Amino acid sequence: MSNKVLIFCAPSGSGKSTIVRHILSLHPEIEFSVSATSRLPRGDEQDGKEYYFFTPEQFRRLIAEDSFVEYEEVYPGRFYGTLKKEVERIWAKGHSLIFDVDVKGGVNLKKYFGQQALSVFIGVPDPSVLRDRLTARGTDSPEEIEKRLQKAEEETRYAPRFDTILMNGELSEAFSEAEKLVDDFLKRP
Ligand code: ADP
Ligand code: 5GP
Repeated sequence: MSNKVLIFCAPSGSGKSTIVRHILSLHPEIEFSVSATSRLPRGDEQDGKEYYFFTPEQFRRLIAEDSFVEYEEVYPGRFYGTLKKEVERIWAKGHSLIFDVDVKGGVNLKKYFGQQALSVFIGVPDPSVLRDRLTARGTDSPEEIEKRLQKAEEETRYAPRFDTILMNGELSEAFSEAEKLVDDFLKRP
């Protein structure tokens, strides 16, 4: 079952990281693809764990050197991308990959990996829960939260371009549905 790819995308605050962490806790053979970013570390984020952190200049150099499978300017001046080296590192162990990327990155990764990949859009029953969840998470300033909410509407329009949509209303139900999606996909030949 090696070399499979799971792609999880959603507007910020939908619960994507929570669901991805849950899947990782159940599947030691699936590894999180650590992205590169030009944003600063948040809270106790560590280089090489949540992200590989680069300065904007370093990030631009990596783009020029064609080091990325995909990259996006997810927020103005903030770049995020998947390094080819990161995919190779995980493939070399025979592990499957799980991606937590923005919607455009998700659509591009699905195009890149094709049938090897399952792309999942995480939706919320009501857009107002995004603000509640981001506020409750307590990791972003009110200005940052507004920026993320402004993007959510556009991001939601990408949902039909994913293989499947997972609703994250009640968390335990979303966990069960995510487990089933992943198990079924990993069993596929
Ligand atoms: P994302 O990665 O999509 O930005 P997170 O996984 O960080 O979102 O979730 C945002 C916040 O909402 C976190 O504090 C998380 O604990 C909480 N959360 C996630 N899913 C649910 C849910 N189904 N119900 C209530 N709170 C949730
Ligand atoms: P955050 O700053 O909250 O960690 O992430 C902001 C957004 O960037 C999220 O939507 C996250 O999924 C996305 N993101 C993280 N890594 C990548 C990546 O490698 N490529 C793309 N396109 N988006 C990414």
